[in-house]
This record gives sequence, structure tokens and C-alpha cells, in this order.
Amino acid sequence: MILSSKEKGHTMKFITIDKKDWAKGIENSRKAYQLFGPVKEKNGVLIKNLEKGVLPLMEYTDSVMSAKSVMFPQSEMILKTTLDESKEDHHIMKRVDTNYSPRAVVGMRPFDAKAIQLVKMNFDTKDFRDPYWCDAYEATTFVGLAVNKPGLYDFSTSAGSGPFGEDGLDVLLADMDDKYVAKILSDKGQDFIDIFAVGTSSDEKESQVLFDVLRKEAEKNIASAIETDKLKDKTILYLHEAPFWDDVAFSCINCGTCTYVCPTCWCFDIQDETKRKASTRFRNWDTCMSSLFTSHASGHNPRDAKTQRVRQRFMHKLKYFPDKYEEGIMCVGCGRCVKSCPVNIDIRKVAKTMNSYENKE
Ligand code: SF4
Ligand code: SF4
Repeated sequence: MILSSKEKGHTMKFITIDKKDWAKGIENSRKAYQLFGPVKEKNGVLIKNLEKGVLPLMEYTDSVMSAKSVMFPQSEMILKTTLDESKEDHHIMKRVDTNYSPRAVVGMRPFDAKAIQLVKMNFDTKDFRDPYWCDAYEATTFVGLAVNKPGLYDFSTSAGSGPFGEDGLDVLLADMDDKYVAKILSDKGQDFIDIFAVGTSSDEKESQVLFDVLRKEAEKNIASAIETDKLKDKTILYLHEAPFWDDVAFSCINCGTCTYVCPTCWCFDIQDETKRKASTRFRNWDTCMSSLFTSHASGHNPRDAKTQRVRQRFMHKLKYFPDKYEEGIMCVGCGRCVKSCPVNIDIRKVAKTMNSYENKE
């Protein structure tokens, strides 16, 4: 279950940060954290390591990529060994020494923090803990920036998040013209604000009222929604066998873009690379939209047809995941897949088709 900050037993505190002092606070935080944040590049805004002197971009509408790569890099070295048989430990895979010193993502969107909580359900379960993802997650402090002006593709309010969502964040910042007001949501957030060391404490009630006014204004500007209310009552087989999947999949070119940009997609592949006697094992992002992803060594492929793969993506997000975890859909409504799909396949339309499907026979 996703715990809200209140359930974690933390008392709310608000700090006002004058924008004139912002750069100083960021420099202070560098002393204790490796910083990540939005950066404008030629193909749009990405969440990247903030090099010395670089401030997080705090005025942007959409970022092409989310903060998922801070825990789950696109390509990550995980194990290594030597093939040199003169060495005692040859062919024994050992974990790569990765730097898990404290890191902070500053300026991420609230829906992306919620997405990380959904991904956590996959990487940190009661039976299994993915050490790479979990160690990175535990090292990270999440400092969100509320969305005052939602983008055209944002439907987060109908997907369990919203422009001022707090799930998964340690601090939520709201831009109030010449200042940021920071709402501290966890002990990790308090530690970050202590090290940030600029700002003055604000009245809790007054600050919350300001947050609520901005939140309502932002929510009013979200014009679309995802419809999923009837999905729970339909069985998996009923939806799986529905006749509309060929139409949904028709124009898909299986490029995988929708999954790579998605903050809640976590598919990966493992590859070994050998250079002379040194062998390294990598984990790389993969996509359920690719036929190779499910190709077995035997040659059999349970999802060799495009329709099967497209169906898998939507069934996983809108049916399998909600049925298994009862924490809502595996989508936070960021709209990235809608914006980026080269053939305009829209998860809101697919959800509507699934949600309203009635077999009349
Ligand atoms: S982005 Fe669009 S075309 Fe590419 S795999 Fe996803 S649904 Fe298919
Ligand atoms: S499915 Fe699309 S809208 Fe939903 S979280 Fe993923 S990229 Fe965002």
C-alpha cells in the first residue's frame, strides 16, 4: 500500500524560499547530494545529472523523459567477472561497485513521483528485492515541483495523481511568483531542506490554503480523463478475447517509444559483453512492444503478433496490474505516450474502448 506522508507520522511544515536565494540553496545541497533535475536539451526537457553550476530547470511544461532513470538507468552495469583462468575467482559474477551516496531529484513532477511508487511494487516485493533499484531508491530524495499550468496531454487527476500530488515525494515545491513554498513531507525531505539551508518557515494553515488555491486552479485546466471505472467488473478473459484489439493495434509500428517514455514501464533485458578477459553483465531497458522481448530460446514466441503485444501493454496497465495490487491503474496520466506515439495511439481512447466494451452475443 502506498503510504501518504501523514500516515508515515510526519508533521507538515512549510518553508518559503525567495527565488533570489534558490541558486545558493542548490549549491548548498550539492555538498551532501548528487543532484538530478530537468535540463533543456535539443530534443526537449530530460531529467539528468546536474553538473556543477547547472540549476534544475524550474519553468517547463512537459519533460520528454521522467525521473525513472535515476533508479533504473537505460543501461546499467550490474555484474562483472574475469575469464582469466589464472585468477582464483574467474567466471564468478560479482556485483559492480556503484555509487549509492545520497542523491536528490529536484524539480520532478508529482505524477512521476507517484509512478516511482508503482514501479516499487515490482522491484521491492515481500518475496523479492531488486538490489540495484532498491539501493538507488533508498539513496534518493524526491523534491517535486507542483504543476501550476498542466500541459495539453496531462490527465493525471483521473489516474490517481494530480498537479499537486504528494505520493512518493519528500518535498513538494509550489512556484508562487518570486518565491517557492516548500511543503516538507518526510524526514528525508526535512534533511534536504536542512542542508539546502535557505528559506524561512511559513505558517502551516496559510501555506496550505495557498497550495489548495493553486491546486484547484491547476486541476480546472486538466481537460481530459481516462475512463477505467468498469474495468474491475470485467474478467481478464472477457477483455482479452474482445474483438477490438486488431483495430487498436492496426497502426502501431512497434517502435516502443510509448514504453521508453513511460514512467511506470519497467521491462528490461540482460546482455553480457566481453572484452578480452573482462566480462560485464548489463541491464538495458526493453519493451513489451518488441517481438524479440518474448522470443524464447526454443524459437517459440508467445507474443509474435503485433496485436498480442499491443494488447499486452494495455491489459497490463489497465487490467492485470490493478487486479493484482488494487492500487489503481499502472498509469499516472502524464500523457507522454500519447504525445510521443508516431501514429497517435492514445491510452485514453483504448481505456474507453475497454471500459465500455459489452459483448452483445
Ligand atoms: S509509440 Fe505508438 S507506434 Fe510506437 S509502439 Fe507505442 S503504440 Fe506502437
Ligand atoms: S501509460 Fe502513458 S500516460 Fe500513462 S504513465 Fe505511461 S506514458 Fe504516462
